[in-house]
Amino acid sequence: MAYFNELYSGTKSLFIGMGITIKEFFKPVVTLQYPHESLTMTARFRGHIELVRDLESGGNKCIVCGMCQKACPSGCITGNGEKREGVKGKVLTEYTLDFTKCSLCGMCVESCKPAAIQFSKDYNLAGPSREAYIYDLLKRLEEQK
Ligand code: SF4
Ligand code: SF4
Repeated sequence: MAYFNELYSGTKSLFIGMGITIKEFFKPVVTLQYPHESLTMTARFRGHIELVRDLESGGNKCIVCGMCQKACPSGCITGNGEKREGVKGKVLTEYTLDFTKCSLCGMCVESCKPAAIQFSKDYNLAGPSREAYIYDLLKRLEEQK
């Protein structure tokens, strides 16, 4: 009798296990083949900050007011601009981020009235030295054209 009980419970558990395997087999694949495939980050994801492109001019939206620099508690941002003939306001000539000190607090983004900076979706950062994390964000924006 014990033999048949064991046979029954063994067969039952085998079919339960097979059922789970078959069900999972037909579910959509969630594994990504990193680094050949990249994740799409959520809207609220915070990567390092980046300059926002001005769709009208094709340049950036920064008015070189310096508010982000003042708001940053870690002193990560270095921004500079200059006056140019025939151009209203200042033109941004440098915008550097020291990401080694950034806590992703968002104070800079909040303080920027023209919404000239935002969090990027870069999540897979790697570099051989601290210098690799000093980002020239103006150059980065130009290279993305
Ligand atoms: S997110 Fe915070 S720490 Fe990072 S650059 Fe902006 S203000 Fe500074
Ligand atoms: S607060 Fe915005 S507009 Fe002002 S310097 Fe920073 S990025 Fe430029």
